[in-house]
Amino acid sequence: MQKAIRLLAITAVAFGTAAHAQAPAEVTLTRLDCGNGFNDARRFSDTFAYTDPKVPFTFSCYVIKHGSDYMVWDTGYLPGSTPSATGKPITEQLAQLNIKPDQVKYVGISHFHADHTGQLAPFTNATLLIGKGDWDGINAQPPMGGANVAGFKDWMGTGRKVEPLAADKDVFGDGTVMILRTPGHTPGHQALLVRLKDKGPVVLVGDAVHFHENYTSDGVPGFNYDRAQTIASIERIKQIEKNLKATVIIQHDPRDVAKLPAFPAAAK
Ligand SMILES: [Zn+2]
Repeated sequence: MQKAIRLLAITAVAFGTAAHAQAPAEVTLTRLDCGNGFNDARRFSDTFAYTDPKVPFTFSCYVIKHGSDYMVWDTGYLPGSTPSATGKPITEQLAQLNIKPDQVKYVGISHFHADHTGQLAPFTNATLLIGKGDWDGINAQPPMGGANVAGFKDWMGTGRKVEPLAADKDVFGDGTVMILRTPGHTPGHQALLVRLKDKGPVVLVGDAVHFHENYTSDGVPGFNYDRAQTIASIERIKQIEKNLKATVIIQHDPRDVAKLPAFPAAAK
């Protein structure tokens, strides 16, 4: 018995040493400016909650550095395709951070709409992390309404890597960066949880909601795939916010831009 206990102790020490041998990867999160404009608030309520035809709207992209790996989250409109698109392409912003597009290992997208998928093309080596419902919608004949098929043309039937996700994904395997299945706005909609050492957990909500008012009131836009799923996804994010004391960032809401340091600084 004595021997068995000692063996267990030695095993525990050995495992402990192995676990500590590899230092945890440093994780940073930087917001990129992927455009600005206005939107009609009335489109964003299926219960006629809003009357303002012109509210400010921002378009946010992000880059996460995990050790020596990079992940981009959402890519904004294609520059030149609409007045709201960024005048400074995502590749130029990444260049300011000394990141080349072919260094990016993952491109995660919240969903298939054009304001999130306009600048996928440059990331030639990246694995595209997309909700399975959205990937199926892009590839359907005819494609699902609202799917920005043109944005994905480099990823369809080519050698590029696509990982359609039917569940959450722990992107780097250490819990620091997790794609959260939050369907409803589109069938495969996803949010992203980034757990930072100093700032703490951050949730990038994609378009689970578009501005604060819909987050606090469980509001659902008129254009939306599945109302019950959208509300369930908002509730999931609220529970995560509460349990992890997370910073929730509504990507389209200009009031949330300052929750992260101004570019080119990164949250750590
Ligand atoms: Zn959007």
